[in-house]
Amino acid sequence: MKPFQDILLQTDFSHGDLVTLISAEGDERQLLFQQAQKVKLENIGNKVYFRGLVEFSNVCAKDCLYCGIRKSNENVIRYEATDDEILEACRFAWENRFGSVVLQSGELSSPAFVNRIDALLRKIKQLSNNELGITLSCGEQSLDTYRRWFESGAHRYLLRIESSNPELYRKIHPNNDFHRFDIRLQALDDLRKAGYQVGTGVMIGLPFQTIEDLANDLLFLKQLDVDMVGMGPYIEHEDTPLYEFRHHLKTKQERFDLALKMIASLRLLMPDINIAAATALQAIDPAGREKALTIGANIIMPNLTPTKYRKEYQLYEDKPCLDEDAELCRNCLEARIEISGCEISYGEWGDSKHFRKNKA
Ligand code: SAM
Ligand code: SF4
Repeated sequence: MKPFQDILLQTDFSHGDLVTLISAEGDERQLLFQQAQKVKLENIGNKVYFRGLVEFSNVCAKDCLYCGIRKSNENVIRYEATDDEILEACRFAWENRFGSVVLQSGELSSPAFVNRIDALLRKIKQLSNNELGITLSCGEQSLDTYRRWFESGAHRYLLRIESSNPELYRKIHPNNDFHRFDIRLQALDDLRKAGYQVGTGVMIGLPFQTIEDLANDLLFLKQLDVDMVGMGPYIEHEDTPLYEFRHHLKTKQERFDLALKMIASLRLLMPDINIAAATALQAIDPAGREKALTIGANIIMPNLTPTKYRKEYQLYEDKPCLDEDAELCRNCLEARIEISGCEISYGEWGDSKHFRKNKA
């Protein structure tokens, strides 16, 4: 067996090495976190970038078995924020020098939806003098749609692969043509073709998921050469089919810890990408996102969704920040981030250094 310290100092990692890293406990776990922080500081510094998150609609045509806003969940009141509400949230981001916004929604691909996003992108660029960076997270779309949205101003896209194991993917999605692993892969490829900085990620602690799967997820991210990653713990939701398997889950604290170890290991594997401190971390531990910032993450997504809609965007139970003021109080956010030893970067896009390097 290779000594743990030797693995930490590598720049290339086998599947076995990654299993060792994400299984680390006690002193080894601490060493992993320290090394991830060191690698982050050496490669991308200690700046944290904001992405104001606008969850503008919970209308979704899909039925992912884990998600609280899946089409078949009739307990959700469906909403679509108005253009004015969305633009107001973006204006808030711009005026507070957040640098970027993320527009996220359920997945629709109707011409009306595609046109609406297109028009919104142009308006956001206009209201911010072209200054706000825009990330989209609106699911699988055609290459044409991705191209159109890119031309209208979006330059990053988040589309999680959810699990890189096709069999596990099938278990957590309905088995039909609308929820296919290979189509999701194709979409990630199309996003690259269209010119985006591509972000993907997985859920950690899913039922049926093994540590070996998670190590493969990390290798998948590396192989895809992604620019950004957002990954966090899977959290159950009682109105979803996957809830039936809740007794097979690790405890929430264990899933949280596993997510931190995945983030730290990913930072060793891909030193110069952007890694988000996922909101789901905060649903388990109020300081969860800040903890992620100290062990490798460098992006945080303060929630700018109009407060009246938040309780209808419950992807999982205990989703945090239903109280807008507490989340956005600038002093609190700054203080919390500074405690994590990071420096907030205002008014910058904070593009993935990895993407810029690959483009150069
Ligand atoms: N509809 C788009 C899509 O699926 O790509 C974007 C919005 S979707 C709500 C964003 C992410 O939420 C998904 O990629 C999934 O990983 C995450 N999510 C959904 N249900 C979750 C759950 N129960 N626990 C943790 N994350 C969840
Ligand atoms: Fe819809 Fe995205 Fe939820 Fe799947 S994960 S049901 S596509 S919102």
